[in-house]
Amino acid sequence: MVKLTIRLNLKWRTAFHTTGNRWKWGADKALAQRYDGAYVLPATSLKGALRDQAEQLLRGHVYICNAPDPAQMCPDPENLCLVCRVFGNPRRPSPLRFQDEILTGKKEERVERGEVETQIRAGVAISRRRRAAVPQRLYFVETTAAGPMQAQAVVEGFFPSRQEAEEAAALVVLAARMLPALGAGRTRGLGWLAAVEAQCTIDGQPLPDATLQAYWNQWLGGGQ
Ligand SMILES: [Zn+2]
Repeated sequence: MVKLTIRLNLKWRTAFHTTGNRWKWGADKALAQRYDGAYVLPATSLKGALRDQAEQLLRGHVYICNAPDPAQMCPDPENLCLVCRVFGNPRRPSPLRFQDEILTGKKEERVERGEVETQIRAGVAISRRRRAAVPQRLYFVETTAAGPMQAQAVVEGFFPSRQEAEEAAALVVLAARMLPALGAGRTRGLGWLAAVEAQCTIDGQPLPDATLQAYWNQWLGGGQ
């Protein structure tokens, strides 16, 4: 087995929201928090966003099944599409482990890791069909304070071969670099990313960008 470690450095340029399951005075939708109160980017949000992005990028280039409907996903665990191999399938879990990641505010010298300034924003529900505000649908969302915010995500997994580990690294990094936004409320200007940097290692050895690029060219047709 080989061990793949992917470190993602995510930087947002707008306020961010993912709905947690805690109740907060004054907010209809509170930010997700860890058991100790630290504000987090939940593992499921990051994994889901990367999978969606990977599917969008690859569709039309290589065969991928129709997630998330389990009935339309790869039926044979021995013959999975690229996205199911890396991100998992109802019949075979992903080799990659995602964790909840703590959000870090902008004033790093003053704000301890895990302490991020938040604010309550008012929103008005819009009818997508009628493109008009729905009466009586004012709600309040807790977001991080506007301005730079970041999180470091570590994604790890064990793979039977080096080639499978490289393939997973290439797909996660490709999706991460192309991710426009993370979190809820994109259409309201929330969660837009400024930059995502990635470093990968296999058994502790850095994985060169050229190795990842070879996979990207193979999937997307190459050419600059
Ligand atoms: Zn599949």
